[in-house]
This record gives sequence, structure tokens and C-alpha cells, in this order.
Amino acid sequence: MSRIAYVNGHYVRHAEAGVHIEDRGYQFADGVYEVCGVRGGKLMDETLHLERLQRSLHELRMEMPMPLPALKHILRETLRRNHVLNGMVYCQVTRGVAPRDHPFPENARPSLVVTAKRLNETRIAVAVTHGVEVVTMPDQRWARRDIKSIALLPNILAKQSAREAGAYEAWLVDEEGFVTEGSSTNAWIVDGEGRLVTRPEGPGILSGITRRVLLQAARSEGIEVVERPFTPQEAKSAREAFISASSAIIIPVIRIDGQAVGNASPGSVTLRLREAYGRFGELS
Ligand code: PLP
Repeated sequence: MSRIAYVNGHYVRHAEAGVHIEDRGYQFADGVYEVCGVRGGKLMDETLHLERLQRSLHELRMEMPMPLPALKHILRETLRRNHVLNGMVYCQVTRGVAPRDHPFPENARPSLVVTAKRLNETRIAVAVTHGVEVVTMPDQRWARRDIKSIALLPNILAKQSAREAGAYEAWLVDEEGFVTEGSSTNAWIVDGEGRLVTRPEGPGILSGITRRVLLQAARSEGIEVVERPFTPQEAKSAREAFISASSAIIIPVIRIDGQAVGNASPGSVTLRLREAYGRFGELS
């Protein structure tokens, strides 16, 4: 069965899908994206993802490619055509096709690409059961990490360095010595008093949808939450650590820069929160 992609008004075979060479996404990374988890054929926290998409577009003075109901229909149709039950749907909007020139083009229409793929459930299950290692490195990204821009070069370089170091994820550290987030995940610890600690929203991090739902879940579970930055040193001596993202929700972190976190196995608060997410994430 061949995969299908939605590209600017057409459903096409994934293998042959393409955009024009002067699409500003291709030329300048002038675009934004969203990744929404899919469980049992339903979209997870779709409303929050679409709100964030609109916000990212607004911050870059870009237009929505179409009204929201039409976009929602395309997300579902792409899932349906790809027979994805558990996985994710990816949606990218760029400023459109125009002769290559830095200023915003006057008449370009935004480009929209939507793809869907299945989750590698085995890989995620292994990571959740055993926990993963992260390595810290300087955060080399721009100052507007709250915008879900397709310009991901520093994230890619960080992830690659992590993988070459035998780790699953990179934890990025700002100039003041605090962890911002992972290269494609938000970063969390559980401190010595059992409090959940994660960096507050702001231009320093992407405001993860999973992060938001987890904060809600934690509070309703009676877990104390503190939104403040933490250092790699503090994380290494924390009771627990984990990363969050729509793709895998929560993955326990058991080692940071080779140093064991707690007893180097997935922590109880981490696993409890992972379980609680199921009751808070909204399926539609
Ligand atoms: N931080 C970064 C840099 C990301 O790229 C992502 C997801 O792609 C996240 C955090 C997690 O965000 P979400 O929970 O919305 O998937």
C-alpha cells in the first residue's frame, strides 16, 4: 500500500510528492509546522495543536492556508488515506512560492503539505520500559524558540551529536547554564522533594502541547509543580527525569552525560504521569 500526501490541494503518492524549488520553505525555511499524535484513528489534542499553529503563523505574519474546518478535514482525510490508527499527522505551512528574494513576496499564497505516518510502537515501548540517556550541549538556536519554525538546523545538529554519543536526546543549555529543552522534546525533572520541575513557557522553549497537558494532569494528581529553569547539575542529582513530546508522550531519562539519575531506572512519578496523560489528552 503506497503512502499518500496532501500537497497544495491534491492528494498525491508520497513517493512523488513535491513542492516548487522556489517555495520559501525550501529556500529560506520560511514556514512553520505541527505534529499531532494519533491514537485509535483520532487526533490527540487537536485544538491545542491548531491553536499553536495559528499562533506560530501569526508571529511570522503568515496567513492560514485555509479556514480551520477545511484544514481539520484534510488532516483526517490524510490519516484515512494512509490507514493510520496510531501514529502522527504532520502539517507544514510555508509563505508560498515566489522568486527568491528575502522580503515577503506580495502575492504568494501559503503552501500546505500534510503527511501521516505510523508510530514505531516497539521503539517507543523499549524507550519507555528501559529509559533513555541524554547528553547536554549548548543551545545554539535563535531567540524565538516558542515559534514552531521549520528552521531546525541547530536541533538536527544537536540530535545527531547526541546519537553519535550513544544517547537518545540532547538537552540544550542556555548561556546562563540552564537547560532549555530537548532538541525535539521538553525537559523535566522530579526534585528531591518530589516536585515536578520544568522550564516556564517563554521565548526560550517551544511550548509543548504534551507539556501543557502534563502540567494539568500533574496538578490534578496532586503532584506539586514548579515552573522554573534547572541546571544540568541539578538534573543529574534529581530523583527522576523525563522528556515529553506528542510522538511518545513521556520517555523516562535514566542517565545524563553518563551519570545515573536516581537508581537509573524509570521513576514512579514519571510512569504515573504517563498513565495520567491518557485521562487528560483529548481525542477528537
Ligand atoms: N520542544 C521542541 C524543540 C520540539 O520540537 C517539540 C516537538 O516537536 C517539543 C518540545 C514537544 O512539543 P509537543 O509536546 O507539542 O510535541
